Parts: sequence; C-alpha cells; structure tokens
Amino acid sequence: MSAAGQSKALKSSVFNNRSDHRRRSFGCGDVFAGGDCSVNTDDPQPATAQVAYQQGAAIAANISALIDGDEPSAAEVNLRGTLLKLGMEKGAAEIFDRFEISGHLGHVVRHATYLSLLPTPARNIKVGAQWLTDEIFEQVLDV
Ligand SMILES: Cc1cc2nc3c(=O)[nH]c(=O)nc-3n(C[C@H](O)[C@H](O)[C@H](O)COP(=O)(O)OP(=O)(O)OC[C@H]3O[C@@H](n4cnc5c(N)ncnc54)[C@H](O)[C@@H]3O)c2cc1C
Repeated sequence: MSAAGQSKALKSSVFNNRSDHRRRSFGCGDVFAGGDCSVNTDDPQPATAQVAYQQGAAIAANISALIDGDEPSAAEVNLRGTLLKLGMEKGAAEIFDRFEISGHLGHVVRHATYLSLLPTPARNIKVGAQWLTDEIFEQVLDV
C-alpha cells in the first residue's frame, strides 16, 4: 500500500482502547493506542506521563515502520522511578526501583530530573538559570 493509502487507512479505522504489546488495538491492527486511555491487560502500566511519552514514541516509530512496509515492534516501557514534592524545599525520589533519596537532596534530584526532561536547550537554560538563582538566593536569605 502507498504511504498515502496507509495514512488514510490509519485515520479511517475504528478506535479501540484495548491494545497489544505493540500498542496496536485488538481487532484493528493499523490503529495504535497509548497513554491513559489504553491498557494491555497482559502488561498493565501505571497511568502516568512517563509511560504515555514512551508509548507515544513507540507508536510513532511503529507508524513509520508500517508506512515503510516493515513489521511494528513491541513497545518497551522503562519506569524511571517516582518523584515527590514535600513542601517548598524537600522532596523524595525513588529511582529505578533501587535508590530512595529524601530531604533537600530529594528536592534537588527532582528538580534536576524535570530540568533534563524539558524539550529544548533554550528552555533548559532559562529554567535552569531561574532554578539556580532561586536556590542560591533562598540559601543566602536563610543564613
Ligand atoms: C493532578 C495530576 C497530577 C499528575 N502528576 C503526574 C506526575 O507527576 N508524573 C506523571 O508521570 N504523571 C502524572 N499524572 C498523570 C499524567 O498527567 C497522565 O498519565 C498523562 O497526562 C497521560 O497522557 P495522555 O496523553 O494519555 O492523556 P492526556 O494528557 O489526558 O491527554 C488527552 C488529551 O485529549 C484531549 N481530549 C479528550 N477528549 C477529547 C475529544 N473527544 N476530542 C479531542 N480531544 C480530546 C484532552 O483535552 C487532553 O488534552 C498526573 C495526573 C494528574 C491528574
């Protein structure tokens, strides 16, 4: 099928929110589902943004594979951990199901992780500079 034909088929198929490990809908192999609205009962994932982002990237790669005439592959989701804000300057971080950090260091790890996930370097610098300024002035004002 041509790329245009594939694209039309992708758009015109019926949406079904149950999906297999390739994020494809059951009974509708050229429609993909990911994020909070989808579930693979054999491998359920938490309804979180980190899962939705990774499933979205896998769906994009699989749509591209279908257009190129290749087979879609399984979506791998790696849970990086949990980050929690506790008040203004404290936090808790559980990383890769192995390390637990809390207190001010947990707060720093949480901020640094969000910083690393921002979409563009320019935004990263802007938010990073603001965050460092806040950290430094908060320390100075605390003394
Ligand atoms: C208060 C709160 C805090 C959270 N904190 C975290 C967190 O710290 N970390 C984390 O990983 N996850 C967190 N989550 C979960 C995270 O927000 C979701 O898992 C993630 O947004 C799912 O992404 P999604 O694209 O599947 O759905 P959504 O982000 O919900 O996107 C669905 C979109 O579809 C639109 N839509 C709905 N119906 C229609 C329609 N009929 N036509 C057109 N558009 C439609 C909606 O307006 C929405 O923009 C939090 C959720 C909540 C509610």
